Amino acid sequence: MKVFTALMATETNTFCSIPTVLDDFAYETGGEGILTDYFNAFGKVAKDRGWEVQHGPAYYASPAGTVVRSAYETIKENMLNEIKEAMPFDALTLLLHGAMFAEDYPDCEGDFLKAVRDLLGPDMPIGVELDSHVHLTDAMVENADIIVIFKEWPHTDMLDRARETMEFTIDMAEGKIRPHMAIYDPRMIASIDTYKEPGRTLVDDITAMEGKDGVLSISIGHSFPWADFPDVGNKVLVVTDNRPEKGKELAEQIGKRVFDLRNELGSTKTPLEEGLEILARNKKFPVLLSESFDCMAGGAGGDSTYLIKGLIEHGITGVFITHYWDPMAVDIALKAGEGTKLHMRIGGKSGPLAGDPVDMEVKVIKAIKGLVVNWEGEPYEVGDVALVRGHGIDIALNAQRDRNPIPEYLKALGYDSWWDAKISVIKGAAGPEKRAESALYLNLEGPGANSEDLMSFDYKNIGRPKWPFDENPFE
Ligand SMILES: [Zn+2]
Repeated sequence: MKVFTALMATETNTFCSIPTVLDDFAYETGGEGILTDYFNAFGKVAKDRGWEVQHGPAYYASPAGTVVRSAYETIKENMLNEIKEAMPFDALTLLLHGAMFAEDYPDCEGDFLKAVRDLLGPDMPIGVELDSHVHLTDAMVENADIIVIFKEWPHTDMLDRARETMEFTIDMAEGKIRPHMAIYDPRMIASIDTYKEPGRTLVDDITAMEGKDGVLSISIGHSFPWADFPDVGNKVLVVTDNRPEKGKELAEQIGKRVFDLRNELGSTKTPLEEGLEILARNKKFPVLLSESFDCMAGGAGGDSTYLIKGLIEHGITGVFITHYWDPMAVDIALKAGEGTKLHMRIGGKSGPLAGDPVDMEVKVIKAIKGLVVNWEGEPYEVGDVALVRGHGIDIALNAQRDRNPIPEYLKALGYDSWWDAKISVIKGAAGPEKRAESALYLNLEGPGANSEDLMSFDYKNIGRPKWPFDENPFE
């Protein structure tokens, strides 16, 4: 018996003005490359179950704005061709994201799964793993047999869920289970932080229900709020071993609990101005600041200027920011050379949500062309980078929009680690270890393409009624 595996993943922030093009996607096939861990997780289960596994194509792009039509159509065609060439096989597992949005294809995963189902027919077991930042659509559910969604944010369980996806898919192919998927829509949009309550207990409770009374898997789609799309929002998915009534009842019960918790599920955020005031008085170092409203991993531009302007206004120094996406500033720094003092215009170019550029006197500390660093034993092309210093703030600038401030990159900029600075800024949520290492951790909330203040966005297409836009969506 043979199982085929493939991946297609990106997340689309429709409020981001930077299009996602074909070149943004890393392409791999045969299970080698940056997505090897996934293939290994899928592959090990299959082998342990005595199945032959064939790893197919993987397309992966860092999140940004809408995927251009030709890019998605090319990827879809290539994926379908590789699936066709690998036939015959007895089951298919896919890792998809669940919030990929292309021009004329608002639900890429639903569209892709429909094409896969049309190709493979109704009897082929298809198991799909999705990110918890998912718009779980009817088209996805109708065209897959079993869907398993990450449970944790920050995501720490991707490989565990991959293994489950493969186990269930093989169980189905071997006739051991008949998966049925029940969905409940709590008519709300709320990110869920599972590192704090009540998200933690919620996930622990649904996990404890699995493996009993015919319940195979329970997932809560956290939603990806930054997409102006009818299906945006949380969803509860209960997969049972052919117990539709039980699944429906449980999905509704959990969904109502999620709705009751709607005000408490998001991350604990400190409004930017309040954060700046705390920093101006703070005596405990090192400080770690998460500029999560400009998180490149969530599709924001990575060049928002609200924080940097605030730091300058409040006279806060000893800051190290990793990192701004600003190719023009990097170019100027490279041309001027290390040691040069100059007037520089930084950030605010990716779109209106990034704010206006900031003008400042800086000294070029580092200017490196074509930086390649070691990342877990592999060469990693960071591209052109610079470190500029002004107002007591060190700003790392990247020509390539890249979301990984990896250790060797920091070293190239002259920092052994983030903790060399009194105050370090990262554009994304820090994991639990990083939070624990800092004397003070602030997850800042401000205007930007990843702001959690959803009322600040100009949504035109989302399905209504839906909380927080409608206080009582069930009335
Ligand atoms: Zn995610």
